[in-house]
Amino acid sequence: NIPAPVVPTEDPTISQLLMNELSADNIKENLRTLTQSPHIAGRDQDDVVLVDLIKQRWLNDLDSVVIHPYNVLLSYPKQNDSNYISIKLDNGTEIDVSQRKELVIDAEQNNPNVVDPFNAYSAAGEPEGDLVYVNYARIEDFFHLNRTKMISTVGKICISRYGAIFRGDKAVHAELYGCIGLIIYSDPIDYTVPWSGVYPEDWYLPSTGAQRGTLWTDNGDPRTPNYPSIQYTFDLLLQQRYAHLPKIPVTPIGYIDAVKYLGKLAGEEVIDTWKGGMNITYRYGPGFSAEHSNSKIKMSVKTTNQPAIIHNVIGYIRGKVEPDRYVLFGNHRDAWVFGAIDPTSGTATMLELTRAFGTMLKRGWRPRRTLVFCSWGAEEYGLIGSTEWVEELQKELQARAIAYLNVDAAVQGNFSLAANGVASLNQVVFDSTKLVSNPNPAEVSEGRSTVYDTWKHRSPSSSEDVPSIGGLGSGSDYTAFLQVLGIASVDLRHTYDRSIGLASYPVYHSVYETFSLVEKFVDPGFQYHVSVSRVWGEIGRKLADSPVLPLDCRLYAQDLAKKRDDLITYYGSDMEKNGVDFAQLNESIRIFIQSANEIHQRIQSIDISNAYETRAINDQLMLLERSFIDQNPLPGRVAYRHVVSAPSQHNSYGSTAFPAVVDAMFDIDADPDPVGRWNEVKKQYSILVFHILSAAAALKPAV
Ligand code: GLU
Ligand code: CA
Ligand code: ZN
Ligand code: ZN
Repeated sequence: NIPAPVVPTEDPTISQLLMNELSADNIKENLRTLTQSPHIAGRDQDDVVLVDLIKQRWLNDLDSVVIHPYNVLLSYPKQNDSNYISIKLDNGTEIDVSQRKELVIDAEQNNPNVVDPFNAYSAAGEPEGDLVYVNYARIEDFFHLNRTKMISTVGKICISRYGAIFRGDKAVHAELYGCIGLIIYSDPIDYTVPWSGVYPEDWYLPSTGAQRGTLWTDNGDPRTPNYPSIQYTFDLLLQQRYAHLPKIPVTPIGYIDAVKYLGKLAGEEVIDTWKGGMNITYRYGPGFSAEHSNSKIKMSVKTTNQPAIIHNVIGYIRGKVEPDRYVLFGNHRDAWVFGAIDPTSGTATMLELTRAFGTMLKRGWRPRRTLVFCSWGAEEYGLIGSTEWVEELQKELQARAIAYLNVDAAVQGNFSLAANGVASLNQVVFDSTKLVSNPNPAEVSEGRSTVYDTWKHRSPSSSEDVPSIGGLGSGSDYTAFLQVLGIASVDLRHTYDRSIGLASYPVYHSVYETFSLVEKFVDPGFQYHVSVSRVWGEIGRKLADSPVLPLDCRLYAQDLAKKRDDLITYYGSDMEKNGVDFAQLNESIRIFIQSANEIHQRIQSIDISNAYETRAINDQLMLLERSFIDQNPLPGRVAYRHVVSAPSQHNSYGSTAFPAVVDAMFDIDADPDPVGRWNEVKKQYSILVFHILSAAAALKPAV
């Protein structure tokens, strides 16, 4: 008869010690150091210099550090012959040649390591043809052109504005609709405001600014879907055809150039929602107006795919009671250029967090569970470092990971905290933000003294008296954790006021994303940075220290019910007419709600001095998210397996609830095989019901 080991309780003073240890000045100095040079993935400045810097800091602060290198496929433009667009006259002369580089506005941007604007994994080529304007290149934009306006894009070069969806999906849509090239530009309506100047007067995008970015729509090394790119990876795997890499040339430009091409388009004037902010009449095309009718648009793209070595730096603080349970903190390190917001505001913050935890360790504190800090390589190319690592360590993570807490671009503005994540984490996120003092003095004088107060005030949930937390799509390193392994995840940032209609923070992925822009316009006192470090640190600390895991299945249940209501609102009558019986989904959710309530009743009466009992219930809580992972990928997706939410099919930045069902419903009326399609809907619906019932069963007590 072995006595149950005793579970130590949590020390309530620790969270205050952590808050006090975190310093704005340190984060500021971290950011200055980390953004001194451009640090694109696969080149020395990131994969040697910054890898080494982080390793040295963590050797000092943490218990241990492991470097994980991967040999992966990256992509770069041609040095000294970077990409451009022009108008080619019928005599062969090229006019209106676009800028190959963004203009240097101050000395800071003048650095030989700046890589000129390009879209990673573009095909190389020099297509010439007629230009067509495709708005945001969403699937519905191509429907509008092809079905409503009867304008074909086959054999045309398309020009799309940035915004609304992930750029990789724009390229997929352009290719699907037969375009031979795609130009993506930043329209001033989406990246500037009428009431203020552009950089250097304010933080809005200057006319030469161009947004770099990947086109890869799956994640990880394109050569090794689902398996890690490590030493012993069989050659044949590496040689798999990269079916999803773009087959057409794609390149980004600024509005200083876009105006010249769009301003000359022929054809009908576009509908109002397609109009941008340049002083021209927006037309669809195809081709140029009468006086330029013999001219073609030309693209010159010399971007090529190249193998490179990338690195993840992983640092550990070993848990003293349950070292085999992991709470993970992650942020990517690579940037398109200086990356002072994306991702380095997050990296500067993470390094201060690890310093603070290190100081607490030296004073004798040690978390109950293990903390894992992850500095990812090559996120910008398609979440490559994090995905390869998740593929490599999948069995260990499935068994041991409690939650993954992602911070990418930590501070994008001074408006409010923002979070996307799984509903079981909502309560621990709320509770943590209630402990962090408000970085905004004006808000404090309005009586809102914590981060939580301003967040709830400025971004309220539509149904509850709490801040809103959205679902996770893709777009940063939480994707493989949640979508491949089913690890509860949350993504945090401090953001600008979204109601002003910007497509993203204005200088995103441009050369102007520098330390001085952050210091002048985004967070001069670094108070928002320190506030994110406190929120992030406290969420992780609670998950690591609380004897009973702060994961709330009742909130998950509530969220499932809400997703069900939304599904019925959008598709219910159509689905019912075609024979879907919602009684099954309703019943599965009713049973899930009941199981969720029961496990929380059991938690109320748990004997936390009994380690076996505590660990058993914690494992049920940890494994809740795993229950929603299907053994097969979702239809048409390489690796996404989560049946409750996935990156949206036509916009991987977006999140779709019950994705397999919703994807099967998409544009169903246009399917030439309606019977086959409705059978697919019913099949996916039954798989969903199955998973909700299995998840409910996994929350029940043992026999
Ligand atoms: N964060 C990067 C971007 O938005 C990569 C996203 C992705 O590959 O999903 O461009
Ligand atoms: Ca892989
Ligand atoms: Zn990022
Ligand atoms: Zn980025």
